[in-house]
Amino acid sequence: MSESEYDLLIIGGGPAGLAAGLYAARSRLKTRLIEKLSPGGQVITTDWVENYPGFPEGISGFDLIDKMREQAERFGLEISLGETTSLERNGDLIKVNLTDGELIAKAVVIASGVQPNQLGVPGEKELTGRGVSYCGTCDGPFFKDVEILVVGGGDTAIEEALFLTRFASKIHLCHRRDELRATGILQERIKAEPNVEIHWSTIVTSIEADSQNQVSGATVEDLKTGEKRTLPIKGAFMFVGVHPTTEFIRGFVDLDERGFVIADEELATSQPGVLAAGDVRVKTLRQIATAVGDGATAAFNAEQYIQAKFKFTPMNRSITTSYV
Ligand code: NAP
Repeated sequence: MSESEYDLLIIGGGPAGLAAGLYAARSRLKTRLIEKLSPGGQVITTDWVENYPGFPEGISGFDLIDKMREQAERFGLEISLGETTSLERNGDLIKVNLTDGELIAKAVVIASGVQPNQLGVPGEKELTGRGVSYCGTCDGPFFKDVEILVVGGGDTAIEEALFLTRFASKIHLCHRRDELRATGILQERIKAEPNVEIHWSTIVTSIEADSQNQVSGATVEDLKTGEKRTLPIKGAFMFVGVHPTTEFIRGFVDLDERGFVIADEELATSQPGVLAAGDVRVKTLRQIATAVGDGATAAFNAEQYIQAKFKFTPMNRSITTSYV
């Protein structure tokens, strides 16, 4: 096998990709995980993870990912930085095209995850990085003792709003309905926060800038009364859902109408040898725990596929750790 040939390539280094990498490495598949930035996916921007079993007091998103990465690397997973631009068939193999080269594999796990949606209101795009943000953990400290806006009613919006209470003097939480989507415990916590005002059934219609081109306000509309007002905020955090990172496989594997990868129960996609794991696939529950389960399942089924298709015998790589 040449240096650019792998048994398994994993695209994406969030919990799904890292779990797939752990299982594949332990199966002695020659495996490389390709990550665009640094491993972590959405979790790395999560301040505190409370619902991943095994950490009764919770764990920071950063530490959890670091442990997952360390564990997978101990068993021989190769991790490299690179941007995947497309996938194509090369006979029975799959060619993974990167911005700076190409790799070949017998099987591929797509674990490229999701990215935050934009709200799409005037001012948002121009003011991104100038007060408009999609990551509380990254940008929260810049908004100490000022009023800020948080948009959305899902788990991300409420978790991030709770985190942002550490910095902001007041949070205006705008949600388009009169009921939050977030899980019960998060709803209880946000409603108990004295510095959070929830604007129910309210949409944001524009973000305003001052003469320095920094966010200075947000115009919101109460959908029940039609009343419009401008909130005196200096930061606007948008958490209005996510979309999958699947542009690079459009036309190669079947996607649903929103762009999520369609995979069966074994996580096989429409393309033989290509599996999907984690938030990127069509599924009902997007959680770290379900992503990790997907990763393990995808790696197991990739190995089954490779064994059947290529009469594969696991490599006898010399592993020096005491964990095997
Ligand atoms: P989400 O669950 O899709 O919630 C998006 C929120 O944004 C919803 O409240 C939605 O309103 C609102 N929204 C969407 N488009 C909007 C628009 N154009 N204008 C105004 N509001 C809009 O997305 P998420 O919170 O990012 O979560 C993504 C997935 O990750 C979910 O499956 C979630 O459970 C999971 N997650 C889990 C955790 C955790 O377990 N701790 C943490 C973060 C994320 P409606 O409610 O009216 O639709």
